[in-house]
Amino acid sequence: MGSPEVPIIDVHTHILPPELIARAHELEERDEHFRALSRTPNNRYATVEELVRDMDGAGVSLSVTFGFAFKDPGLCREVNDYVAASVALYPDRLIGFMCVQPFDPGLEREISRCAAAGLRGVGELFPDGQGFSLKEGPARLGGLCREAGLPLLLHVNEQVGHFYPGKGGQGAADAYAFAAANPGLRVCFAHWGGGLLFYELMPEVRRVLENVYYDTAAGPFLYDPRVYDVAKASGCIRKVLFGTDYPLLGPERYIRRMGDGRLGDDDVRMILSENARRFLDLH
Ligand SMILES: [Zn+2]
Repeated sequence: MGSPEVPIIDVHTHILPPELIARAHELEERDEHFRALSRTPNNRYATVEELVRDMDGAGVSLSVTFGFAFKDPGLCREVNDYVAASVALYPDRLIGFMCVQPFDPGLEREISRCAAAGLRGVGELFPDGQGFSLKEGPARLGGLCREAGLPLLLHVNEQVGHFYPGKGGQGAADAYAFAAANPGLRVCFAHWGGGLLFYELMPEVRRVLENVYYDTAAGPFLYDPRVYDVAKASGCIRKVLFGTDYPLLGPERYIRRMGDGRLGDDDVRMILSENARRFLDLH
């Protein structure tokens, strides 16, 4: 792999307002999923200043950033306000996504409010932590995103292998069901889609997944670097988005690992930049 001469786009970063970081212990009591993730040895929180500083250090041009998908829509609103303020501070460096609770009666209002405040997508939502199933819905969420032209980033993970805090019970089959129920919606399934991309070798599945992307977030903890070769063999390189799950991991480890596979420079450019432009509808 040569050096990728493209503006690097990281589609998966988390930030939290300093006020919420200061209240992390209280939030751990209120939100089971937040507690599970907070108590992992690798856990860190980052403010927007730290994110931008680390982007500068790693040569990342643009990050998609969001807070944490709490079960409580009130806490989601708090992180959305912070993300909107952060994007206003760094408009050339950040694209903000909103965290919403799909069962919130005020869902439509919150999506419109955040879109008006400059947020340009929805995610990363955590089906298990927020108490919804990708298979059984939530129909309103997909419909509202499609109508508003907002891409959606959803957490799924592999349903095999070792347990770790934050590993949820929804994976490739659930992601597939959601995509099938929401044709035309640009959706990215995080963490390599829980392995869904492998099934793109089935022609009818590939058609259903036409607008689906996969991000690389947490990949170094989960997969051998040859996962990039699997993506290439399954014809999915144009659907893989570079995402770090910052502050869990920084970009360097991912970029180095891409070079361990058999990707060409064009493949790397697509993953680090061009695919994200399509997903985000950037021109
Ligand atoms: Zn995730």
